[in-house]
Amino acid sequence: MAAHGSSATADELLSSPWDVVVIGGGNAALASAMSAHDQGARVLVLERSDVTFRGGNSRHTRNIRCVHNSADAYNTGAYTFDELWKDLCSVGSGPSDEELADLTVRESESVTGWMAERGALFQPPLAGTLHLGRTNRFFLGGGKALLNNYYRTLRKRQIPVVYEATVEELVFDGDRCTELVVNHAGRRHSLRAAAVIAAAGGFEGNIEWLAKYWGDAARNFHIRGPRHNDGLILRALLDAGARTAGEERGFHAVAVDARSPKFDGGIATRLDCIPFGVVLNNRQERFYDEGQDIWPKRYAIWGRNISQQPDQIAYCFWDSKVQGQFLPPMYGVYSAPTIEGVASQMGTDPARSAATIAQYNAGVPEGAPQRFNPAHLDALATTGVTPPKTNWAQRLDSPPYYGIAMRPGITFTYMGVGVDRQARVQREDGSAFANVFAAGEIMSGNILSSGYMAGFGMTIGTVWGRIAGKEAAQNALR
Ligand SMILES: Cc1cc2nc3c(=O)[nH]c(=O)nc-3n(C[C@H](O)[C@H](O)[C@H](O)COP(=O)(O)OP(=O)(O)OC[C@H]3O[C@@H](n4cnc5c(N)ncnc54)[C@H](O)[C@@H]3O)c2cc1C
Repeated sequence: MAAHGSSATADELLSSPWDVVVIGGGNAALASAMSAHDQGARVLVLERSDVTFRGGNSRHTRNIRCVHNSADAYNTGAYTFDELWKDLCSVGSGPSDEELADLTVRESESVTGWMAERGALFQPPLAGTLHLGRTNRFFLGGGKALLNNYYRTLRKRQIPVVYEATVEELVFDGDRCTELVVNHAGRRHSLRAAAVIAAAGGFEGNIEWLAKYWGDAARNFHIRGPRHNDGLILRALLDAGARTAGEERGFHAVAVDARSPKFDGGIATRLDCIPFGVVLNNRQERFYDEGQDIWPKRYAIWGRNISQQPDQIAYCFWDSKVQGQFLPPMYGVYSAPTIEGVASQMGTDPARSAATIAQYNAGVPEGAPQRFNPAHLDALATTGVTPPKTNWAQRLDSPPYYGIAMRPGITFTYMGVGVDRQARVQREDGSAFANVFAAGEIMSGNILSSGYMAGFGMTIGTVWGRIAGKEAAQNALR
């Protein structure tokens, strides 16, 4: 299917002028399209992916974090403006632009109702490793179902989507985008729109761009979302003079199974074994405190940790005492009666791995299994071992032993374009483009320049999609 939501062919859709053209097919794009349509605009959505893989990173998501002032069917308790704001301020160096961050948090309160009116379904709160049942709402069926529901709404409203349509260039005359060059089925089309919304995600799918900052290490990164998020539109906007927002070389990354696909492994390849295990690099050395903090707070540090190790690979070992205390890895684990056996299955030096683990074991206090408490920071720490393990430090002494090889899994990049309160893309000279708006990951650096808070990517995409759609439509229809 090349186009959807219209009886016109893709060629016809790509040859007529539009009020608003939305670049992208993820959460921010669809929120923008529905919002622009609410204002009465004629809207066209251009999604680079095919139908099966439509929806960018958004299709891998599970939840959204919004202000709510009481418990309800989907959250176990209140999460007020003040609390969300405080949480946002404690991420990285805090909000990049306080005014835009404040607007995002305020607007978040009405977001879930707005989503539900447009087809989103939610599920009752979950208990589990992420402890998010009070603060975050989970999508029934995950992000893929959310987007399917949104696409269904677009179809009902007859908002056309052209798939496999890559916007390759934006042509500008001064501060106005006059033309989008779209490649569809190998043919280039020149498309006109009164207003354009860039909702094309980050540039994490572009290994060459990542290699600019990370050198050859980038070639060993796994990308958790689609290869399509290569920053083509971000680059086009920067080349046209857009101001940047967000840390240039920064990304969110977690530890993923080294066997996961290079792109699009999604949520299922993430590994949760680290706090209860021992992690070695491929020189068979420990390099970071595995028990630094409870997992939801620390899991995102491990993508970066592993990316800084030789060959960007690390090996987690644990024993039968903690097996079953965390989500099992999707592709199964390596297991053997000895540490050497597990190490050799994983392809790392058996004798040196066993020696490092013996050294670590010597630093674990007596009586550790009695003091071990997986539910809390238990202060069960090693002594005389560098680096220390400061919580959940038990000996690896109860076979069978288990292990898994890990790679950095890049979730998204931080750098995007600067916007104003109307989501208009700003230029380096402080003015804004006349008819170009942005929503989602491509502008999330305005809210957080680095660091991340679970569920807030979807909040940013929905809040700013709603703003961008409304403003772009009003701009186009004026
Ligand atoms: C595994 C995983 C789990 C996550 N879980 C959560 C979660 O539970 N909650 C949360 O809030 N966040 C989560 N995130 C982060 C979240 O996915 C992003 O913050 C959010 O999806 C960004 O939405 P977006 O619409 O801006 O970008 P995307 O959803 O990535 O959409 C970008 C779109 O642009 C299209 N595109 C790119 N270039 C072009 C072009 N040149 N022409 C046309 N189309 C183009 C792509 O095909 C894609 O459709 C997760 C991310 C990953 C990878």
